[in-house]
Amino acid sequence: MIMKLISILGSTGSIGKSALSVINLHPGRFKVFALGGFNNIDLLLEQTIKFKPSYIVTKDLPSKKLLIDKLKDTKLETTVLFGEEGYSFIASHEEVTTVIAAITGSAGLISTIEAAKSGKQILLANKESMVMAGDLLNKICLENNATLIPVDSEHNAIFQVLPSQKDSQDIKKIILTASGGPFREFDTENLKNVTIDQALNHPNWKMGKKISIDSATMMNKGLEVIEASHLFKLNMDKIEVVMHPQSIIHSFVEFIDGSSLSQLGNPDMRIPIAYALGYPDRIASGVEGVLLDKLPNLEFSKPDLKKFRCLDLSYQCLAMGAAHCISLNASNEIAVEAFLLGKISFIQIPELIEKTLLTAETTYINSVEDVLEIDNLARIEAAKILNKLF
Ligand code: MG
Repeated sequence: MIMKLISILGSTGSIGKSALSVINLHPGRFKVFALGGFNNIDLLLEQTIKFKPSYIVTKDLPSKKLLIDKLKDTKLETTVLFGEEGYSFIASHEEVTTVIAAITGSAGLISTIEAAKSGKQILLANKESMVMAGDLLNKICLENNATLIPVDSEHNAIFQVLPSQKDSQDIKKIILTASGGPFREFDTENLKNVTIDQALNHPNWKMGKKISIDSATMMNKGLEVIEASHLFKLNMDKIEVVMHPQSIIHSFVEFIDGSSLSQLGNPDMRIPIAYALGYPDRIASGVEGVLLDKLPNLEFSKPDLKKFRCLDLSYQCLAMGAAHCISLNASNEIAVEAFLLGKISFIQIPELIEKTLLTAETTYINSVEDVLEIDNLARIEAAKILNKLF
């Protein structure tokens, strides 16, 4: 067994913490080479003392100085870096075999690309980098022998049941399951007055703020449809979404012979993380299996695209092409931030995105610079619309 040397981008977030708890169960298999956190310095320090990485990365120079200061008493020889250059450094370092890409949002793009350019095994939790630059990322991986293993639970489930990605002609369709979030039972009228706390309170999964809001709007599922199209190289007409409020079945693959395969598990991210970390072996995740006799009834239904407009907009963007997907993601980030600051209401999130998308133009994406330029233009447009209308 070859020891995997791991860099975790986003170690202090929800996925990062779950990954470290799985890694902690397997000291002979994994060594934490580097940790990249953001503004939770206390937790980054705590993780550094426990896992003794060679490098840690924090958000800026002042927090770097603070961490160096705090590390003085520990006698650890950990080098402290900061910012985008730091994240890219630990994503591409020659000693690293495996990169866990778990930074939230578009902020994770550059370091994920760097990992791909350096031929790493990438455990991809940052779905936004696939949404923004799926074709480009696939191309860079192919050119540099990098591999992508999805951590997102639905995509990980599909990855677990697909014997080989070359058999995509055998796939009739994939079906992503969606819990429907906290507002599954709400009607459009009730959605007008929901609070930030209600939107953050996901019934099944404990997650970071951005993805919790994305789950409440179902933009998360929309981004996952786009992510799936790139990961599994499928046309959008082969990707469906089904509501499954119990979050026990984490997606289906339906084959042309009428067979459907799926993966079941309790809603705990340590399961897909353990599969991705151990692949192709299976390793303990620390999570119990589902107790079939204790399971609630498993329900399935079609999503209401009029109520969950973000999901509808995502399909439209996938049809329109890469530039629209970038604008979708960028305007969503602006809208979620505005909602969390109390500037707009919950139902204004899709409104802001839709208005921004009207300004998007179909452009060919050739490089990361192209992606960043379109992302930036969409943010400027979204900010203008935000100031004018809301
Ligand atoms: Mg997911």
